[in-house]
This record gives sequence, C-alpha cells and structure tokens, in this order.
Amino acid sequence: MSNHLFDAIRAAAPADAPFILIPGARIWTYNDALALSGRVASAMDTLGIRPGDRVAVQVEKSAEALILYLACLRSGAVYLPLNTAYTLAELDYFIGDAEPRLVVAAPSARAGIEEMAKAHGAIVETLDADGSGSLLDLARDETTDFVDASHSADDLAAILYTSGTTGRSKGAMLTHGNLLSNALTLRDYWRVTAGDRLIHALPIFHTHGLFVATNVTLLAGASMFLMSKFDADEVVSLMPRATMLMGVPTFYVRLLQSQRLDKEAAASIRLFISGSAPLLAETHTEFQARTGHAILERYGMTETNMNTSNPYEGKRIAGTVGFPLPGITVRVTDPATGRKLGAEEIGMIEIKGPNVFKGYWRMPEKTAAEFTADGFFISGDLGKIDRDGYVHIVGRGKDLVISGGYNIYPKEVEGEIDQIDGVVESAVIGVPHPDFGEGVTAIVVRKPGASVDERTIVGALQNRLARYKQPKRIIFADDLPRNTMGKVQKNVLRQQYADLYARA
Ligand code: ATP
Repeated sequence: MSNHLFDAIRAAAPADAPFILIPGARIWTYNDALALSGRVASAMDTLGIRPGDRVAVQVEKSAEALILYLACLRSGAVYLPLNTAYTLAELDYFIGDAEPRLVVAAPSARAGIEEMAKAHGAIVETLDADGSGSLLDLARDETTDFVDASHSADDLAAILYTSGTTGRSKGAMLTHGNLLSNALTLRDYWRVTAGDRLIHALPIFHTHGLFVATNVTLLAGASMFLMSKFDADEVVSLMPRATMLMGVPTFYVRLLQSQRLDKEAAASIRLFISGSAPLLAETHTEFQARTGHAILERYGMTETNMNTSNPYEGKRIAGTVGFPLPGITVRVTDPATGRKLGAEEIGMIEIKGPNVFKGYWRMPEKTAAEFTADGFFISGDLGKIDRDGYVHIVGRGKDLVISGGYNIYPKEVEGEIDQIDGVVESAVIGVPHPDFGEGVTAIVVRKPGASVDERTIVGALQNRLARYKQPKRIIFADDLPRNTMGKVQKNVLRQQYADLYARA
C-alpha cells in the first residue's frame, strides 16, 4: 500500500522549482515545502497524532498552512480546515462534532480556544501567517526523517464542512482517492503543466481554494502566487507574471471594476476559471469584451469536488457549467419519481464517479438519504442537460419557490430583473403566503442614484414573465447577504422576511 495522494504529489514535484510565490516576499520551492511538511508531520507524531486522527485547522492563509495540509496527507491524519471567520461558539460545534485530536489555531486565538478544545479532548498548537507558532517551533526542532504513513485510496484525507448555505453544516468525508482522481482529471482537462503560474486569491478552507487550486497545482508541479485575500488591482498587476486565475464570480465582477483591466494586462493569462456560484452571463460577456478571454465556468461542491467544466477547446457557453468531466456521470431525474429525464428537461442533478465523497461524518442516515439505490449522489441542485450535452444549473432544490402550485425557478426571475436599467442584482425567494403557500419575493439592489422603483420593475416584468412568476413584493436593499465564497445566503433572507405576508 502506498501513501496515495502524497506519493503522486511527491512524484510530480520538480525539486528546486517554485511551488509558492508570496508576492513581494519569499519563494517556497517544492523542496522547501516538502522538507518542512516532513518536519511538521514528525512534530505531529511526537504530539501523538496517529493516522485517522482529525486535525482541525483555523489559521490565516499562508504557505505554512498549506504545508500543514501536506503534513496531514503524509501522516494519515485527517485534515479539517475551518473558516477563519468562525466565532468561538461556532468552533465549539465543529470541534464537538469532529472530535479532533489536535486543533491548530492562530497564536492570538489560543487562550480562547484552549479550554473549549480541552473539554472535547483535543490539544491546541499554534501557527501564524508570519511563520511563527508553537507547531512550527516543534517542527524546527525535529531532525528525524518522517516516514510517510501508508494507506489506501479509500482512507480519509479530509473532512470539509459544507458552507451551510442551506442549513446546518455537515462534515463531508473525502478520501485520498477522491482528491487524487479529481485533481488529475482537472489537471489534464485544463492542460495544467509545470510551466503554469496560478493566481491563488481564494480562501484555503473551502474545496475551491484547497483542493481545486492547490491539488491541481501540486500534481502539475506548477507554481502559484499566494495572495492572502483577493484585491482586484493587485490581481491585475500580477497577471503579466501569471498564466491562470481561479475565482468565484465576485472576483470577476470586481476585476471589471478595475480601471487597469484590459487586453494587454490579461495577455499572458491562458485560462480564467470561475466556479462556486453562478456566473452571470452579463459578466461573462463583459469580461470577454474587455480582455478577449472567455471565462471557463465549472461546477462542483464540497461533497464531490468538481463535476463538470466548460471545454478547454471548444465553445464555453455563458450560463452553463459545461460537460461532465471524464469518468464522471451526471444525470437529471424527476425529484418526485426518480425517473431519468431527457435533454432539456429540468430536474434533480445526480452524480456518480470516483470524485464522490464517502459520506457525511457520523451521519449514516443523512448519507443514505442522499444517495439513490444505484449509487448516484443527489446533489440538491436543479438543472438540465441541453441537446448539446452542456449542463445548466437553474438553482438549488431548497431555493425553488412553489407558489399557487406552480414551480418557479428563482434564477429565471432574477435574470429578468437584473437586466432592468439601474439594477445591480437581485435575489428571488419564496416567503410563506396565506393564499399561495409561498409568495414570490424579490430583493433588489439598485445602482447608486438609479431611479428604478417598484413600478418600473413590475412594468418591465409584465410582458417577460408569466403572471405566477412575477414577484408579489419587491424590496430594495443596499446589498445581499453573502458568505465568504460570495454565495447569496437565501436562508438569511428567508428568515429576515419570514412574516412579510403575514403582516400584510
Ligand atoms: P450547504 O450544502 O451546507 O448548503 P453549500 O452547498 O453552499 O453548503 P458548497 O459545497 O460550498 O456548499 O457549494 C456547492 C454548491 O454551489 C453547489 O451545490 C451549487 O449549488 C453551487 N455552485 C457551485 N458552482 C456553481 C456554478 N458554477 N454555477 C451555479 N452554482 C454553482
């Protein structure tokens, strides 16, 4: 038995070539990073961490944090990254649920976390973005060569809690085999090679920044510019030294606001990728006009890594998430009967392949409920496959509005509202309604100073949408609530406006 994912990473590592470039600061070669990962793995071994033990990590984005991830892969510990925005009370839930043996936190957070972690049977060590911290001190003292643990493709590599956009976060268990197969598939599909330099401005506690960006870079022996956070002007100024950017739709919206973005600035980039949330067709079109690049949109989720991608060569179609990746089957079924639907028919998206996770941590019943009898994962997303084979996501099952017995797909209504002059964006939700079950409700953000009002919107939608799809109420807001990946939190909006029609 080998050490699955890490063996592949080591085999692909081009020794003295750069792995992580910190703009304006240090360069980590592959040799530097792998050597430190061995010392961190030894330090964890000294602390008593054994294969299968969870290591919960809530630290700022840094090269050292990614090296800790590598150390876990080598040692067989299960890496469990946590959003840096989580409060102590939220951490208490995750630590209580996952029962890690070790919690790695920022030095400034140690005092607060220690008592709570101890109550759950965990020890605490620290690591900071400036390279300081007790775990790194221990690692520096280690002189012995770490012997990588061996394990099978089916062993757990990580537990990633879902964003919780649709309810309480669940721990998705991902195996070494899941991560390796998906990263190799993406590397080959997107033609990533050792010559690539990726701009990495995503958080590293989420599947996008951790598995897609990092694993693909590692398995290609490529390098990445590690930015602590996204800044549009800084990204534009890095572009001439880079070849790829992976982002969420918000990155592209902000890049379009940067005066410095033009064809020349983007000339050396060969691939702009977007995912984690729907990219508006308008953003796709504007970006292409400004830079000459068609953004490649792909679709994935915590439980499955990546499922589909627009083609590298061939037409990248705005508003679609492209084709199922090689080795992955995507189908659409009728949510009520489970019957497989044909081209263009909207239903539940289901996924099968080596990318699909092992199940939810300590939730066997929930896990069983999310798989079909023939082994497909029920994604919770509604969509269709068109006649040319492109997959379209029309929204989440939980966001579907059912009003007066009709199904209304929020994305369709939002698409119409967003085209109205003076509108920045909108979110359409279902709110309990005494007559209709749910009332279609639109929350709309206007451009500063725009004169658009309720009457203009009602008037504009009149001839564009069937009556039952038209919002019963339009509410103006300064912005929409979003999580760190830029996803609109419709659950927050539904809660906020829960008694809108009850009051009326
Ligand atoms: P939870 O499951 O706890 O509600 P979450 O689903 O937001 O959290 P993630 O795994 O981060 O957690 O998000 C995956 C979801 O993001 C997908 O199921 C899909 O709804 C959405 N998504 C990802 N990429 C795209 C895309 N390109 N277009 C549209 N939606 C996308």
